[in-house]
Amino acid sequence: MDFNRSDALAAYRVQAKAWGAEHLRPEWIEHERETGTHHNAELHRLLAEQGFLAAGWPKEIGGSDVPPELAAAVTEEIQDFGLRMDGWITTWMVLHTIDQVGTPELKRHIIPRGLAGEAVIVLGYTEPSCGSDLAAVRSRAVRNGDEWVIDGAKMFTSTAHEGTHVFLLARTDPQAPKHRGLTLFLVPLDAEGIDIQPIYTLGGQRTNATFYNQVRIPDALRVGEIDAGWSVMRVALTFERSIGEGGFGPTFVSALRDWFASGPEERVARGRSSYVRRFLARTAIDDEVSRLMTLRVESILSHGGLPGVESSMLKLFRTETMQRQHGGLLDLLGAEAVIEGGRGPLNGDIDYAFRNSVLGTIAGGTSEILREVIAERRLGLPRTRPAK
Ligand SMILES: Cc1cc2nc3c(=O)[nH]c(=O)nc-3n(C[C@H](O)[C@H](O)[C@H](O)COP(=O)(O)OP(=O)(O)OC[C@H]3O[C@@H](n4cnc5c(N)ncnc54)[C@H](O)[C@@H]3O)c2cc1C
Repeated sequence: MDFNRSDALAAYRVQAKAWGAEHLRPEWIEHERETGTHHNAELHRLLAEQGFLAAGWPKEIGGSDVPPELAAAVTEEIQDFGLRMDGWITTWMVLHTIDQVGTPELKRHIIPRGLAGEAVIVLGYTEPSCGSDLAAVRSRAVRNGDEWVIDGAKMFTSTAHEGTHVFLLARTDPQAPKHRGLTLFLVPLDAEGIDIQPIYTLGGQRTNATFYNQVRIPDALRVGEIDAGWSVMRVALTFERSIGEGGFGPTFVSALRDWFASGPEERVARGRSSYVRRFLARTAIDDEVSRLMTLRVESILSHGGLPGVESSMLKLFRTETMQRQHGGLLDLLGAEAVIEGGRGPLNGDIDYAFRNSVLGTIAGGTSEILREVIAERRLGLPRTRPAK
């Protein structure tokens, strides 16, 4: 396991802070809150232009000279500032999946465009009638010469209204057992026959329902072998659950400590209470556990492995911790916590972050499903569902 990464990150944090002070604009936060869109096209372009999106990738496929640790520190800075980067996160997952399973032509077609900020790829797995049980998808892709014709409906296609492509799971053989007969495609969102309708969540986030009516795409945009979509999904879900750290982030505990220490007398006294001290200590411990679990997942990935169970453990711990921490913070700050915008404590982001944390344990696999993965694959307990 590589513990040096976090030290390197700490070293780059000063540089990342200076970058944030120069480039990050408060009106982007307002725009995100107003629209519920967790992607900012202007910021995305800027990160691409300056080589941050391409950090760590080989030069021949579009990689840049930016050190990955600096890119990671800048990402943390953006998140600390209060902005979400969902468009980049899903693009990152799909680029890595294609890097593992795509044809050389597909890699050459999409990876450089993704790293240059020109392609924003979103996820089209969930449908109105299935989410956890993804093998039950009904959207159809039918081969027609060198093309595929896609019909169906997807739910929660987050960021589709800002994306250029959807990574779409479809049924290609309706006669086969349900885990076989599935295939993944990279469908351009400007193709004819696609309709995108907004859905607003309790977190304020805008996601989408997407509809596909006789959408034609070339076979070159198929990802992986025909009918082998289930094994491609396992790779993609591993990357999705590998998104790390979580909790409030490395600078939060000190920000909260300073906030209590610097306020009016009543607040300073409250900051000395055992309740606040316990909360801060618990938060610091949880963040450290998240960090170590993240390092473990990154270490497996960096050695060419796929951290299937480890990424499920990380996602489960990270998202449940976030919920607990945000709930605890609401209790700690009382009514003040629901004041939004700059007037509230800690930039007034607490209520918003709490509502969003509720969704974290659903998107990307619910906690119940992740517990089943861990129980079966790590602990060797028997399956609770019928065998495939
Ligand atoms: C904010 C947000 C963004 C999302 N973004 C995307 C996206 O971009 N692309 C995309 O494709 N999807 C997206 N999703 C969908 C998400 O992946 C699904 O909501 C999730 O997988 C659960 O599926 P479901 O909603 O159909 O619930 P269901 O699968 O119907 O589950 C309902 C409940 O039953 C439980 N349950 C189901 N099966 C089992 C089981 N076998 N054992 C125990 N309990 C079980 C679940 O844990 C849950 O509590 C998003 C969801 C949210 C909330």
